[in-house]
Amino acid sequence: MAKGIINIAIDGPAGSGKSTLASALAKKYGLIYIDTGALYRTVGLYIQRKGLDCGDTAGIIASLPEIEITMRLENGKGIVLLGGVPVGDEIRTPRSSMYASEVSKIPEVRDFLLELQRGIARENSTVMDGRDIGTVILPKADVKLFLTAGTEKRAHRRYLELKEKGQETSYDEVLADMLKRDENDSGRKIAPAVPADDAVFLDNSELDAEGTLAAACRIIDGVLGK
Ligand code: C5P
Repeated sequence: MAKGIINIAIDGPAGSGKSTLASALAKKYGLIYIDTGALYRTVGLYIQRKGLDCGDTAGIIASLPEIEITMRLENGKGIVLLGGVPVGDEIRTPRSSMYASEVSKIPEVRDFLLELQRGIARENSTVMDGRDIGTVILPKADVKLFLTAGTEKRAHRRYLELKEKGQETSYDEVLADMLKRDENDSGRKIAPAVPADDAVFLDNSELDAEGTLAAACRIIDGVLGK
């Protein structure tokens, strides 16, 4: 790691508020926010566009050499490009969430995205969010947070978020998707969404975004000795 580089890892389940927290931390500490879920979502998008089923493991693995995923760092954030074109909200639909969760179970897909994530963290001070940042991608991250909240709280937040974006869905549908994704993400053999041994737990069930940020800053400042 280059001198003076700081990396903060935030892991946790879907809907725990990782991206809201990570963006706020990036602004506060002058770091680059890397949303690693967007990388898995982009692989899923490619597979969807190609018309493959998300359960077609052999087809997905065979497609990897065709997939050109890069990241451009812009305004304190990593923008994901697929074939040189920025991906937009197309990676945020419930269908894309499920594709992302399914493709992310495949070890070859995880390997395919590993060096991209590590390379960015080697060269830049980042706050990176995902499921395996503290355990696999950046085991030597300066600070590791594991952000979590009750399942129904997380489903409710995600439901409001999708509604705000004008996406047709119901709370029950979001909750069912979330339970399925939780099971996929934490139950898989490779890089399961579990806290690193040295991660600090933060349950934000009773906190809003501001309260979560304040609690995270206390932890980070404590670990970095500020
Ligand atoms: O974080 P987000 O919900 O956007 O991630 C989409 C999916 O990508 C997750 O459900 C998870 O299966 C997968 N993922 C992963 N490892 C990461 C980030 C996301 O497996 N570091």
